[in-house]
Amino acid sequence: MHLVTLPVALLLCFSQPILSSTVFPDPALTVNGIPFSTRAHWMRRANEALGELTHSPCPFAAFGTAIVNHTDTNGLGDLICIGVNQNRQTGNPALHGEIAAITNCTTVLTDPHGRFRLTTSEAQDAFADLTLYTNAESCPMCASAIRWAGFREYVYGTSIDTLVQNGWSQIHISSLEVFQASWDLSPQTLFMGDVLANETDPYFLWQFDPTYPCPDGCSRSGNGTRCRVSMRDELK
Ligand SMILES: [Zn+2]
Repeated sequence: MHLVTLPVALLLCFSQPILSSTVFPDPALTVNGIPFSTRAHWMRRANEALGELTHSPCPFAAFGTAIVNHTDTNGLGDLICIGVNQNRQTGNPALHGEIAAITNCTTVLTDPHGRFRLTTSEAQDAFADLTLYTNAESCPMCASAIRWAGFREYVYGTSIDTLVQNGWSQIHISSLEVFQASWDLSPQTLFMGDVLANETDPYFLWQFDPTYPCPDGCSRSGNGTRCRVSMRDELK
């Protein structure tokens, strides 16, 4: 998945499609002054958003997102909002974790009584300072939304390839393909994949493998196909 390594300076000097995005091959690299330990912190926060927003330790669609401002590289960064897949909660089939988070952040940024109180125009521009952490590689819909938003960085854990190998139906277009095809959208977005995948993968390995252990706090239902909170007939 990690095919291209180019310094930012090169990224800014060329306008060929292949150079529109930078993919870093080693998820442990320090990128934009942000060490791996900080990336890991926020990827874990994306995982934690699941329990926080679904009120279940084993939501079926376990896709979580955290959006962070890293422009002040001192400290961990500033969490702007979180989001999780809300298809089942809302009936909106497009409300994947990343779309939910972008929507939540827009609300936070434009809240007239909130921390930022931005105009709608200022809010759109603000995404250029933000990093989106998602515990799984975005589908092409969400990857496109990330590019339309103009995020500074996009960081994912589990890859689409891993999802597919473990039974998830997907639209088979990688983030890399979406990013390369969006070369003329400005600003550019740096992206990193497989960050903390050893911790994000287990969120997606139990749904289609009845032999895989349920997340802590859940157990297999009667026919063994679903992990559920003990004695509760719900998916999330
Ligand atoms: Zn999506």
